[in-house]
Amino acid sequence: MKKRLLFLGPPGAGKGTQAVRLSSKNDLLHLSTGDLLRAEVAAGTSLGTQAAEIMNRGELVSDSLVLSIVENKLSSFSKGWVLDGFPRTLAQAEALDLLLKTINQPIQAVVLIELDDELLVTRLLDRGREDDNEDVIRHRLKVYKEKTAPLVDHFKKQGVLQAIQGSGDIETIASRIEASLI
Ligand code: AMP
Repeated sequence: MKKRLLFLGPPGAGKGTQAVRLSSKNDLLHLSTGDLLRAEVAAGTSLGTQAAEIMNRGELVSDSLVLSIVENKLSSFSKGWVLDGFPRTLAQAEALDLLLKTINQPIQAVVLIELDDELLVTRLLDRGREDDNEDVIRHRLKVYKEKTAPLVDHFKKQGVLQAIQGSGDIETIASRIEASLI
């Protein structure tokens, strides 16, 4: 099975749920920049205080801040990993390409989970996280389309993109993903 993976897709597509499931089943590192940032917020660090305000507006935190969080984590883990919520900009993707080249761990698959906008909004409203009110959700979707969706082409060019339909229940989606990673 492929074991150096990246989950891509709009907020609410189910990346986090599927990334946790797949990584615990296969003993891979699950690296969610959103979770790492929320941990900084909860711990009240100065980085967290800086990030919280940006996250609650549905904007992206700066590339340099996110990269500094990711770098240490990735280079110390060789069994395999699932990146979730990172990269979110072309600059982050290029920095990741460089980092992976340096540590000689190329990406084996980019799993793109696709779902209609209205379903995304409904799912996120059900989830009820602090940054999940309707205005912020719609803003996050807009930011996704502007800044993150261009990564689809970036990874398509590298020949690693695999699109998965994100509708249905958790198990159905998990089976689609697993079948694509053999
Ligand atoms: P998530 O849990 O992936 O939905 O992330 C929640 C929020 O954390 C996002 O809306 C961003 O504000 C911030 N965030 C998470 N990952 C990144 C990233 N790779 N680049 C910039 N901001 C991020």
